[in-house]
Formats: sequence, C-alpha cells, structure tokens
Amino acid sequence: MQPLLLRAQIIDACRRMEASGLNRGTSGNVSCRDGDHFLITPSGVPVDKMTPAGIVAVGFDGHVIGPGKPSSEWHFHRDILQSRPDMHAVVHTHSPHATALACLHEELPPFHYMIAIAGGDSVRCAPYALFGTEALSMHALAALDGRKACLLGNHGLIALGRDLDEALAIAIEIESLCEQYLLARQVGKPALLSEAQMRDVIDKFQGYGRNAHSP
Ligand SMILES: [Zn+2]
Repeated sequence: MQPLLLRAQIIDACRRMEASGLNRGTSGNVSCRDGDHFLITPSGVPVDKMTPAGIVAVGFDGHVIGPGKPSSEWHFHRDILQSRPDMHAVVHTHSPHATALACLHEELPPFHYMIAIAGGDSVRCAPYALFGTEALSMHALAALDGRKACLLGNHGLIALGRDLDEALAIAIEIESLCEQYLLARQVGKPALLSEAQMRDVIDKFQGYGRNAHSP
C-alpha cells in the first residue's frame, strides 16, 4: 500500500473515533504496520491538526524515524504488532464506558453474544501499569492472548485488527457493549451466556469469512 494512503487512513480512523464518541481531545491513538516499521499518531496533536506527513514512523527496535514525537503510548502498539504478526492495526481509546469498566478492574463477561467479535467469551481487563512502560505492554499482551480486544485497568481499551477498519469496528462495538453492560448492571444482574453458547457464536462468526468484521 502507498505510504501516504496508509497515513491518510490513520487520520480517517481518528476522525471516525471522534465522530463515534470514542475519543475526546488527544487521548486516543492509532497505529498500523507498514513493512519493517509502523506508523502511529503523533503525540498531543488533535485530529483536526493532523496531516498525513505528520504521522510518525517508528522502527520495531524503538527507533523513532519521525517526523516529530510519536504518541507517548507507542510502546504497547509496537509490542502488540511485534507479538501478533496476524494483526496489522491497533486502536487505543479512553472511551467512557470501556474505561469505566476498566476502572472497576472487571472484565466484560459474555452477557451478549457480540462479545465474540473480540475472539473469545470475554474481554479481559489487564492490571494497571504506568503508560509507556514494559509492564503495561506485558499486561496488555497477556490480556489480549487469543483475543482482539482488552481493557486496561484504570486506563482504557485496546482493539486490534487485520486492518484499521476491523480494529476500529471492534473498538466501537466493545465500547457499545460496555455501555449496555453497565446499563444492565444498574437494574440487575445480567444473565450470562454459557461456554457452549459462546462457542457456537464464535464458530458462526468465523464462518462469515476473513473479511467479515461483524455479522
Ligand atoms: Zn491511553
């Protein structure tokens, strides 16, 4: 893919995050694999000020190619893209409902079949660690094992995809599921689907084919 096109797609993903209520201000960040390095949103730049040329390239060895400073959260983007060769895009957000659940250090249980969009029967919550640290990367990688999304304790949400569209679709869906779950919790105890019921959903999702982002 042409590098400029990929850079424009990253900005487009940021705009869609803001439009869908996932991001406010400069807290979210987006990355995408680009050959022997990855591209990531710059540090502290609001979406309306981002330009394709201002998207920052970083080597997998941590060498900042530039221009400017990458998001201060680039470490876990790098570590995820390195550890998950099948995933090519990472979306991170402090979206309100996912973050609220993450602040309770609770995972998102199988209260709704769409949980399977993230590849399992829950969305795990990683323990808290300071942003930009190896500890946060390790916690995130463990919570993402076999999954395409996880919550970060006292922090937010990470979603992965084979491309930016998939990562963004999963982030939007998980934020929406967190909202529904918290709403249900306000009036009762949501009924949970069984392991077998979730297995059926996961099998059916996989049957939709590689390019299906949602049923
Ligand atoms: Zn963050």
